[in-house]
Amino acid sequence: MEQGTVVKVAGPLVVAEGLPNAKMFDLVRVGPDKLPGEIIEIKGKEISMQVYEETTGLGPGDIAVTTEEPLSVELGPGLLGSIFDGTQRPLDVIKEISGAYIKRGTDVETLDREKKWKFKAVVKKGEKVGPGDIIGEVFEEKIKHSIMVPPDLSGQIVNIEQGDFRVADTIAVLETEDGRKVDISMISRWPTRKPRPFKSKLRPSEPLITGQRVIDTFFPLTKGGTATVPGPFGSGKTVIQHQLAKWADAQIIVFIGVGERGNEMTDALLEFEKLTDPRTGEKLINRTVFIANTSNMPVAAREASIYTGMAIAEYYRDMGYNVSVQADSTSRWAEALREISGRLEEMPGEEGYPAYLASRLAQFYERAGKVTTLGTKPREGSVSVIGSVSPPGGDLSEPVVQNTLRVVKVFWSLEDTLAFKRHFPAINWLSSYSLYVGALEEFWDKEVAADFKELRNSALLILQKEADLLEIVRLVGMEALSVEERITLETARLLREDFLQQNAFDEIDSFSSLIKQYKMLKLIMIYDREARHLADEGVSLESFLAVPSKKKLADIKHIDEKDLSKFDELEKELLNDFEKLLVKQASPG
Ligand code: ADP
Repeated sequence: MEQGTVVKVAGPLVVAEGLPNAKMFDLVRVGPDKLPGEIIEIKGKEISMQVYEETTGLGPGDIAVTTEEPLSVELGPGLLGSIFDGTQRPLDVIKEISGAYIKRGTDVETLDREKKWKFKAVVKKGEKVGPGDIIGEVFEEKIKHSIMVPPDLSGQIVNIEQGDFRVADTIAVLETEDGRKVDISMISRWPTRKPRPFKSKLRPSEPLITGQRVIDTFFPLTKGGTATVPGPFGSGKTVIQHQLAKWADAQIIVFIGVGERGNEMTDALLEFEKLTDPRTGEKLINRTVFIANTSNMPVAAREASIYTGMAIAEYYRDMGYNVSVQADSTSRWAEALREISGRLEEMPGEEGYPAYLASRLAQFYERAGKVTTLGTKPREGSVSVIGSVSPPGGDLSEPVVQNTLRVVKVFWSLEDTLAFKRHFPAINWLSSYSLYVGALEEFWDKEVAADFKELRNSALLILQKEADLLEIVRLVGMEALSVEERITLETARLLREDFLQQNAFDEIDSFSSLIKQYKMLKLIMIYDREARHLADEGVSLESFLAVPSKKKLADIKHIDEKDLSKFDELEKELLNDFEKLLVKQASPG
């Protein structure tokens, strides 16, 4: 530990001297309240740090003490169901966010030190273990929490206990090769900025099924994939976020709220706390770690919350879980980077953001992925990241959005104009995209149906054509369209209303399995195919627009997952109606 002196304070930025051995990103304690700060620039003898708490009252002459350690997260049982601030202090939510601040410099333990957990050992005395090996487990509510050998440790188990223990109690003793005895507890620490190691990265090949049709069928995300979504006010961003948290087939959710206004965050938290896990009926928060960083907390802490959340996600990934990280909003983090960079008097890049904005965003999203973990019995786990952006004025050409789009593979274009029209989820099917479609073909072929991809592509094409046709209709009227084109418009309408629109608040419609999505799509596309066939045979447009079974398409979204055979019945009915029209055409009168 070295002790230096503060020479300058500019908002969250504090400059100190007299710390010759300081290292980048090491944690420093500043002033009488020992405020935590992270070294972000070393220029000669001037050490600049971003301080995670309010710096009022701090001034030249105050002390700055290095800890010789980077900012780290504390990992162990008790993370799930917790709400932390950016530096992982547990928050008494309402009190903190509605204005009664935690006293500055308060050092609270992240994990409850008193609570006892039932620890079950899975290795025996005498066994050799290495990085990532699981030595035992406890249950956080219903979720199995594996206690793993830290990534930098290996040796022989010379003692291991079982029973009720507190997180910091010694549960095992390990003897390393050089004869050192190391006590192991259920807690470990990890530097937040450093990606946790794994054996190998796997190609994303499985969808992160969300049950949201516009996403899963048209713009899918993979387990271990990355997506971004803008969220203009009133576009239904909160509803989407809740739907993803509730339905995505990830076992663990890490929700990072960055720099939103305090009251919005409180609402978000309160609402989130009310959500139940539709699959288990338990509280959703029981498998969620919430990191809340409101706009009235110091800007530097926004950055900390991003990394803290990511490190926690990787920790659960290493146990073999699929984890989904939802960060809202990464734009607020970028603004914090801009502010700190300005204070450092760095050369500004585009719109005042630092030149390293792109690389910071990339580093964050690159921590997503599906991996084979460390350990002699490796597991597969994934971290998927969904980051929201909130560009000023909805301008998607601004640097944060553009740099994000360069690294993420999925863009869900959430638009308030669609929300005004009550088209929900308000994800624009023309401007959204997913670069995972190719990677998912094999999965779709095997797990859904051989013609799913083809149906999806044809449907998307029809939706794209609709946009052009509507433009023609607007200019010269419906009469200008051919029968073929009229059919395209009709199919597109069916696709929009009966497939894309999905009511989050309807018990059945809220979630559609991939199989149900396929069956819905297939039925609509059968209508399209048959209509074109009839048109070729000279049947009039009016008659097949009015086939009785077509009306039932409006209700297919309400078919229960348990009654999927209804789709086959409906298909028969539809084909039957069309057949009748053909017969009538062949023998009029
Ligand atoms: P934002 O967070 O973008 O301001 P919300 O997520 O609160 O907007 O959504 C605003 C309103 O839009 C909701 O109260 C709801 O009525 C409606 N809405 C949004 N998404 C859906 C959806 N998928 N299904 C039904 N209604 C929705």
